[in-house]
Amino acid sequence: VKRNQNEPEFQQAVYEVLESLQPVAERRPDLVEAGVFERIVEPERGIQFRVAWVDDNGKVQVNRGFRYQFNSAIGPYKGGIRLHPSVCASIIKFLGFEQIFKNSLTGLPIGGGKGGSDFDPKGKSDGEVMRFCQAFMTELSRHIGADTDVPAGDIGTGAREIGYMFGQYKRIRNEYVGVLTGKGLQWGGSLARTEATGYGLCYLVDAMLKDHGTSFEGKKVVISGSGNVAIYATQKATELGAKVIALSDSNGYVVDENGINLDVVKEIKEVRRGRIKEYVEAVPSAKYFEGKGIWNVKCDIALPCATQNEINEEDAKALVANGVQAVGEGANMPSTPEAIAVFQGSNILFAPAKAANAGGVATSALEMSQNSQRLSWTFEEVDSKLHQIMVNIYHNISSAAKEYGCEGNLVAGANIAGFLKVAEAMKAQGVM
Ligand code: NDP
Repeated sequence: VKRNQNEPEFQQAVYEVLESLQPVAERRPDLVEAGVFERIVEPERGIQFRVAWVDDNGKVQVNRGFRYQFNSAIGPYKGGIRLHPSVCASIIKFLGFEQIFKNSLTGLPIGGGKGGSDFDPKGKSDGEVMRFCQAFMTELSRHIGADTDVPAGDIGTGAREIGYMFGQYKRIRNEYVGVLTGKGLQWGGSLARTEATGYGLCYLVDAMLKDHGTSFEGKKVVISGSGNVAIYATQKATELGAKVIALSDSNGYVVDENGINLDVVKEIKEVRRGRIKEYVEAVPSAKYFEGKGIWNVKCDIALPCATQNEINEEDAKALVANGVQAVGEGANMPSTPEAIAVFQGSNILFAPAKAANAGGVATSALEMSQNSQRLSWTFEEVDSKLHQIMVNIYHNISSAAKEYGCEGNLVAGANIAGFLKVAEAMKAQGVM
């Protein structure tokens, strides 16, 4: 704790994982002896750097860049780059730590890492975003590589930013390699990567619902956020027969009892880069509410897809009181520990982020495979692999929970299943 003072998000993530690994520590003294528990909470490497760039007014701007290379026991470091004013060491470390287990759960050979910067892309011109990304990659390029560390997108880092970063890496290193994922389709990207996290979330929640004799069919769904994950979760949930009735952004939320019209949302968010409140201009029967409050909207299934700690204890109680049957986490750590306790204390199904949102990184790993082969698979091929991966994750975490005496607790199941694979590799590779 002392070593990670002033890092509340990181401590929160570590506590949650270590708590559920207690039964593993009891049953596996060999892993305790190999120091795996102490080693896994310490990043293998953390880089912090200055990112200086010139804005449209000719003024020099300075941001702070980070890359935490957390664990490479089962493959090259892999994890996104977050561009958001809230980015700090604690947030990147919590995300990098979680990524270890999530990547392990995919069943693919990828280690855990995460990076980012406190740069805010909102309100910046394309030229400013490009100059920032080039400056960011100028330093990052020394530390990453197709077989070393392969970053991807995250909040604030979409196809545009990945493009500028990839271009700069290529220019500096004179290598055309799969060093980033989430690339454009014309230059090494994978079909279905854009959709993967939102689709994957629905595939996993669908497997969980089916295991309990129900499905998305006819259910009312509330989804927070209106970014990449939220949009494609809306699309897949709708395809699976549900009605998505609410979406949000950091200013407020929109409720459309007739079912969200995704074409309108895509036009606002993907074309105009606008705000969710503009939805009611196109669909006047919908209602917009300023501020937080989306979790008071009555629904059967809640899919938080915005950001960390967006559901607190009170929100969780409101969801449960309104009869929610299942919660699937699309964002990373969207529920506070108190909120998770409320969900687990009531009779609802709860799919934790590490498992439920692993579809994005799984498809990124499939993008790496295609880059290594210098081939592109079809949408259907990637989507069907993604579907299978998510169903497998559900069954693996559910069995791990059962095996370790906490049947039905998918938080523990995900931590245990994700941990065991990495821990065996760390033990086999010796103390380092
Ligand atoms: P985007 O930047 O595309 O969208 C984020 C959405 O969340 C926006 O609607 C944003 O609103 C909202 N949001 C962000 N911060 C806050 C906040 N503090 N309060 C309320 N709303 C907020 O990001 P993604 O959709 O890619 O990512 C969403 C979450 O999913 C993150 O936790 C990310 O780490 C996680 N994730 C993403 C993956 C991916 O493949 N994209 C993979 C795995 C996890 P606004 O525009 O107002 O900021």
